[in-house]
Amino acid sequence: MKALAKQAAKPGIWLTETERPEPGHNDLLIRIRKTAICGTDMHIYHWDDWAQQTIPVPMVVGHEYVGVVEAMGSEVRGFEVGDRVSGEGHITCGHCRNCRAGRRHLCRNTTSVGVNRPGAFAEYLVIPAFNAFRIPDNISDDLAAIFDPFGNAVHTALAYDLVGEDVLITGAGPIGIMAAAVARRAGARHTVVTDINEYRLELAQRMGATRTVNVSQRSLTDVMQEIGMTEGFDVGLEMSGVPSAFEQMLGSMNHGGRMALLGIPPGSMAIDWNQVIFKGLTLKGIYGREMFETWYKMASLIQSGLDLTPMITHRFAVDDFQQGFDVMASGQSGKVILDWGA
Ligand code: NAD
Ligand code: ZN
Repeated sequence: MKALAKQAAKPGIWLTETERPEPGHNDLLIRIRKTAICGTDMHIYHWDDWAQQTIPVPMVVGHEYVGVVEAMGSEVRGFEVGDRVSGEGHITCGHCRNCRAGRRHLCRNTTSVGVNRPGAFAEYLVIPAFNAFRIPDNISDDLAAIFDPFGNAVHTALAYDLVGEDVLITGAGPIGIMAAAVARRAGARHTVVTDINEYRLELAQRMGATRTVNVSQRSLTDVMQEIGMTEGFDVGLEMSGVPSAFEQMLGSMNHGGRMALLGIPPGSMAIDWNQVIFKGLTLKGIYGREMFETWYKMASLIQSGLDLTPMITHRFAVDDFQQGFDVMASGQSGKVILDWGA
């Protein structure tokens, strides 16, 4: 079958032919229709330090997808051949304390589709049936293909009650922008999004940010004054992984503020603990998506009218994958979809 793989330990990604995977007793074989390119795929593409330490070569990459169940193992219940599905890319062990308590997103033995096991940038993908999520008929293939990052946004944005709260989102990458849309819909008062990329700030505005701030040009404090925020943000969603953005968030939180941290900093990062202690802040790390409460919320948010379609700014046939990776690398995009022609 056709697949996009990391074929060599150097920058790039290659379209290749590989063996079609066989489903085990508890697995689904999924015929991939559409995939989306994630920031993680870009790390693998650029072959940065994290990728070099994490990705075995060769490896079929990708974990944002929608497809159709083509076959299934003999023990699978609850799915039918022909079901349209996406899936949770974190494969959990099922027997650690958190898994057994239903907190699968906290499994300490997690492996990841397209990172430590063959990914979705292929004509076929095998995953445990447990990980699959059936897509309701009224949700398009394009939107289903971005459920994985949408789930990061939903998981983070719904970490705290947002009704009437002033929310700061640092980082208008695809996940930060979708989080702004969710925050607005969940009832936040001000949803302020920061970035240094104008293209993405415009998209954030379009998706529901009440105010965007290019922090390379304007002071966040000035903007807070302009909109009448005299105390500070109630909730912070860190979605850049940039230490200076984190620091700016710490400095602009109100006392008693709550922060959810999704962005992954490049290495260990110094924190002004005095801000945390004397302001009485709460900090929560967010990893992946809750299985499967976040997935349920994603589908129902879309069904209740959240319009994510402007997030998808580019579409390419898989043979033109290089253009897709180029536009992602440029920063001048929302989500980029690759069509596998199925
Ligand atoms: P992205 O890289 O597309 O977005 C990050 C954004 O931060 C970019 O638009 C960048 O311009 C912006 N930025 C740079 N400097 C900034 C500054 N000083 N202030 C504000 N913004 C600034 O990433 P994404 O795909 O949207 O993901 C967001 C973050 O979440 C990344 O750090 C990613 O690694 C991380 N992530 C974490 C998980 C998890 O499970 N914890 C899952 C997916 C992604
Ligand atoms: Zn586990």
